[in-house]
Amino acid sequence: MPELPEVETTRRGLSPHVVGRSFAAVNVYDPRLRWPVPHDLGKRLTGRAVDVLDRRSKYLLFRLGKDTLLVHLGMTGSLRAFSRPPPRRPHDHVDLVLDSGVTLRYHDPRRFGAILWIPGPADRHPLLARLGPEPFDVAFDAGYLWQATRRRSAAIKLALMDNHLVVGVGNIYANESLFRAGIRPTTPANRVSRARCARLVDEVRATLADAIAKGGSTLRDYVDSDGEPGYFQLEHFVYGRTGEPCRICGTPIRTRRQGGRATMYCPFCQR
Ligand SMILES: [Zn+2]
Repeated sequence: MPELPEVETTRRGLSPHVVGRSFAAVNVYDPRLRWPVPHDLGKRLTGRAVDVLDRRSKYLLFRLGKDTLLVHLGMTGSLRAFSRPPPRRPHDHVDLVLDSGVTLRYHDPRRFGAILWIPGPADRHPLLARLGPEPFDVAFDAGYLWQATRRRSAAIKLALMDNHLVVGVGNIYANESLFRAGIRPTTPANRVSRARCARLVDEVRATLADAIAKGGSTLRDYVDSDGEPGYFQLEHFVYGRTGEPCRICGTPIRTRRQGGRATMYCPFCQR
């Protein structure tokens, strides 16, 4: 599933191709995504110029004057730029053609993604209005995390993955950040001290930054390549390493389920 680092890499890869460009044509081959692609998307987009390509949580936001085109990659989606698009393959659902001739092609086998038109202020849209701060935003600091968790008795890992608290910390990054911060994932959120909240904020950012830096080396996959953009294989400390020795202390990594997702941790390093 594309996580925040993959979406941010997509944003960085596409930005040079779209900013300052206008949409020349829109081809919707199959509108059946998580929500239907608007039937009048072509009419809305054609002739409109992209001021900036933003990201909020895992949503790509093409800013066009006061209006916004929102793209979400869902579980299996990708959006790539082609100067000469190859023949359509199965699951290529939408082409957005720019006045430069570059085509942005949306591909999504499972169709849990979305392409939506948001007229007017996008931050009031129901998908965006209640999101917590971005992990790299100054608003996400130790004081904020400490305050926001005082009345939460749920496990710190579940709190970290709650988009109302902070956006973009998916399962892999929650596992890795908690290991790096030395915090047991099952610790009640309101039992994490202020000092450990500070450490956790630092490690969430460092973990995501490492993945984004890794993604930089795959940027070429977003433009004129036949391969699918890959997912970033970090050197994980705990994720996917159940039973293997902890990289720090050698204790076998343990696993358990939390909120339906796999949690991996070192019983020695994480207290
Ligand atoms: Zn360990």
